[in-house]
Amino acid sequence: MKTLQLGNVTIDRIQEWVGPLFEIANFFPSGDWDTIESQRGWLEPHFLPPKDLMRKGFLDASLHTFVVRTPHHNILIDTCVGNHKERSILPDWNMMDSDYISKLANMGLAPGDIDFVMCTHLHVDHVGWNTKLEDGRWVPTFPKARYVFHKTEYDHWQENRGHHGMDGAFDDSVLPVIEAGRADLVAGDFAIDDSIWLEPSPGHTPGHVCINVASQGASGLFTGDSFHHPIQIAYPEWSTAFCSDIVQSGVARQNILDKLVDTDAYILAAHFNDPTAARVVSNGDRYKLKLDI
Ligand SMILES: [Zn+2]
Repeated sequence: MKTLQLGNVTIDRIQEWVGPLFEIANFFPSGDWDTIESQRGWLEPHFLPPKDLMRKGFLDASLHTFVVRTPHHNILIDTCVGNHKERSILPDWNMMDSDYISKLANMGLAPGDIDFVMCTHLHVDHVGWNTKLEDGRWVPTFPKARYVFHKTEYDHWQENRGHHGMDGAFDDSVLPVIEAGRADLVAGDFAIDDSIWLEPSPGHTPGHVCINVASQGASGLFTGDSFHHPIQIAYPEWSTAFCSDIVQSGVARQNILDKLVDTDAYILAAHFNDPTAARVVSNGDRYKLKLDI
């Protein structure tokens, strides 16, 4: 993703992992491959590889953190899987050893430069770099940051930490931040300032939030896992097997699309492949993404 400039806010992306992740039959219970092919015209090549290069039945996903720099703060949004963590969802994610911190350094930022870490929700692939292993203990990776968790989300997973969407992450990537006194459990109307604020979008998880960014008339919406793949721009009714409430998840997606469609606002989703940042435009009686490139 190219650096996105919105007024005096810049947005970059650290990619931790990319690969075939969403197996249609299992991941989108109401999805089917013929419908995906019907949207190939705008999905290819960025969001759907040419047929001869594709792993049939799978859609690719990116794991990435958005790095948001305002005149006042350095902010990370969603923190991927993290290093050295025992995970069972995917072999690639188990005991990962990525160069995530080097990529941050390449942007001119050290862990101590981060002011806020914000998680759209607390699933395993959104909280991993919240902590790192130090002398056998999980400690906050970003020592000066306030970690912003929606209280509704935290309360839910505190009671359901064994869920398959967590894969152990509550104990090694959320709780140590709480215990270190670095977390702020906030309401759904929390704002850092007038350029960054939350917008509840429950459905994928009970306390899922989108995060608004706005500056000098330009704007974007970090949509977390309200969307997993661009096909859901055309078919917002496709919820995933990981959604807590498949009906509410679809309603949340439709509301987001209705807000963004045919405006200048960018959609910044947690798993959309490069170039990631896009706008939502009308496409007959459905919607599609429009890229700057
Ligand atoms: Zn995710």
